[in-house]
Amino acid sequence: MSNQRIKLVQGDITKIKADAIVNAANTSLLGGGGVDGAIHRAGGKAILEECIQIRNRQGGCKTGEAVITTGGNLPAKYVIHTVGPVYNNGGKGENGLLASAYLNSLKLAAENHVETIAFPNISTGIYHFPKKKAASIAIKIVQDFLAGNESIKEVVFVCFDDENCGIYKGLL
Ligand code: ADP
Repeated sequence: MSNQRIKLVQGDITKIKADAIVNAANTSLLGGGGVDGAIHRAGGKAILEECIQIRNRQGGCKTGEAVITTGGNLPAKYVIHTVGPVYNNGGKGENGLLASAYLNSLKLAAENHVETIAFPNISTGIYHFPKKKAASIAIKIVQDFLAGNESIKEVVFVCFDDENCGIYKGLL
């Protein structure tokens, strides 16, 4: 069962010791509020420097895609920056874009031999994606990916707020 490799934690993702933590970044890759700000603050300038290099090379990161940098001063070795969709009534392909953000992060993790990875609740803050729908998409993508992948040993969903925590508890 792939669920045995899925864990739920409530707290601050910058404190998680995993091979990689995922950042809910924006297309500029230059940092922002929410979890993005927390990761850059805790991880230090090495992360931003690599983000700027990626930006210079490929012009940022499109919604649904993912890029990888060092974890800087974080306990995690890498940060995988992905961009979730801004929620806008659900008619702009938001569900598919959120699924892509999770899937492309997992693919990039596997390519980089990551065995443990932690996700925040992408798009459910400033981007206003409905939390329950976001959680069911996140869990489905992770379960399906783990069913076809043996290299990733553990996926941690890090819920910051009580509402997301309750939703994930109910679904897992
Ligand atoms: P987005 O722009 O993708 O919505 P946000 O950072 O605003 O990104 O929010 C995404 C989720 O991250 C929200 O559920 C928010 O509660 C959560 N969050 C904020 N700070 C942290 C943190 N330090 N660790 C883990 N999750 C966090």
